[in-house]
Amino acid sequence: MNITKIENHIYLIDVETAGIKNFIASYILKGKQTAIIETGPVSSIHNVLSGLRELNIKPEEIAYVAVSHIHLDHGGGVGTLLKFLPKAKVIVHQRGAPHLANPEKLWQQSLKVLGNIAEMYGKPEPVPEERIIAATDDLTFDLGEDVKLKVLETLGHASHHLSYYEPSTKGIFPGDAAGIYLNEIGVIVPTTPPPFRLDIALASLDKLIELKPKVLYYSHFGKAHNAIEKLQTYVRQVKLWAKIAREGIENGEGIEAIRQRIIEKDEAVRKALQYIQNHLVLSETTLNESVQGFIGFVEKFPDFPL
Ligand SMILES: [Zn+2]
Repeated sequence: MNITKIENHIYLIDVETAGIKNFIASYILKGKQTAIIETGPVSSIHNVLSGLRELNIKPEEIAYVAVSHIHLDHGGGVGTLLKFLPKAKVIVHQRGAPHLANPEKLWQQSLKVLGNIAEMYGKPEPVPEERIIAATDDLTFDLGEDVKLKVLETLGHASHHLSYYEPSTKGIFPGDAAGIYLNEIGVIVPTTPPPFRLDIALASLDKLIELKPKVLYYSHFGKAHNAIEKLQTYVRQVKLWAKIAREGIENGEGIEAIRQRIIEKDEAVRKALQYIQNHLVLSETTLNESVQGFIGFVEKFPDFPL
């Protein structure tokens, strides 16, 4: 477990799920009160807790645990973590809230989609309903000492997705709304599992760009400068993938052929190919689930302008 001070008041804990480094981040945001943004899955909550201890943050100082969405790698551990944090409330999109209170359906669905990876993440524990803040757009949480956390609804990756804006650094915690940033090689790749909505995801990306952010704090993974440029790069990339998927569908290609053409035509993916193929989780998700997300979208919305 590895802690990095990334701003005067923000720390990154690498939660190292299943020992995988540089993959899932949990952020600690300190004002007068403290907030945690993203917990990672159940199986690495012990690393979040050791991180808090190492930073000398007492469990009762944590006022909020904010999750971008309820997928296991982001909010899966929140029920478990909360048992150790007596005063914390959970911030989650209102459509995700029922699934944190009763995670059984989420767990069954995750097993179906992710199989062994879901087992590796662990089964989420329920969050007591009275501790959940079902968030809507534009809600702002004031942590004191000029540190604020503003909720931004950014659907598309999921129908229950939030990003968070921190005005003092002009920083955005985009969750999965802005792709996966492979910080070790400086490449962005899509995270767009079915039922991915490209149209809605693009509107969310526009919304993030309009804020003119300076930095991004990716859940996968880490702090990155040139935020606007990175968001614009992701916009171009998802449009390219959608075009390739649509051509493929029109020509009767299957997922394998479409995936091959994505690798041929997307320079970022070519650069990241070896990294992805060697990665326990990304090898399953980005070149499989994400491609399927695009195929599903273009089949459903064949006339969406690209
Ligand atoms: Zn994710």
